[in-house]
Amino acid sequence: MTDRLATYHREADAGGWRRAASEQAMRVALGRAVVGGTVDRVEVGPSGAVRVVDLKTGSRKPTKDDLARHGQLGAYQLAVEAGAFAEHGTGSGGAALLQLGRAANKTTTLQVQIPLADDPVDPGWARELLERTAEGMAAATFTALPAREVCGTCQVKDSCPAQPEGRRL
Ligand code: SF4
Repeated sequence: MTDRLATYHREADAGGWRRAASEQAMRVALGRAVVGGTVDRVEVGPSGAVRVVDLKTGSRKPTKDDLARHGQLGAYQLAVEAGAFAEHGTGSGGAALLQLGRAANKTTTLQVQIPLADDPVDPGWARELLERTAEGMAAATFTALPAREVCGTCQVKDSCPAQPEGRRL
């Protein structure tokens, strides 16, 4: 795993993606939502655009279609544009998952979600998703919506009404 990470560092450097920060805390208001946490890696690309990279060590990785609408990566991009990493820049250069575990291929697998502004179908999808999520979570009740990528490792699956095991409760 450390070999893969070292390989990625060389690949990123060669591609002009400079490491700007590691384990950087952030907190930013996006409409009704407050997005906060610690991101694994912040990079600045050749054009000055900022990209958040999330390091993954699992054995599964999202499909190409899931990646295009990956909510966490979309939220990172919105956070960049809202100034969460203003010391590095406020233009989004996309966001990415760096697979370092069994989900990686022989060396590394960087799964890149393109910049929101470049989305050919719907550049506003991430903001709409965030607004919908914030509204839903502010309501008295909200509906569990299964998602292939996250349900498998969800810690409350046994009590989730959207899952067969949870429906028995
Ligand atoms: S198992 Fe239920 S609560 Fe967990 S991620 Fe899936 S839908 Fe959401």
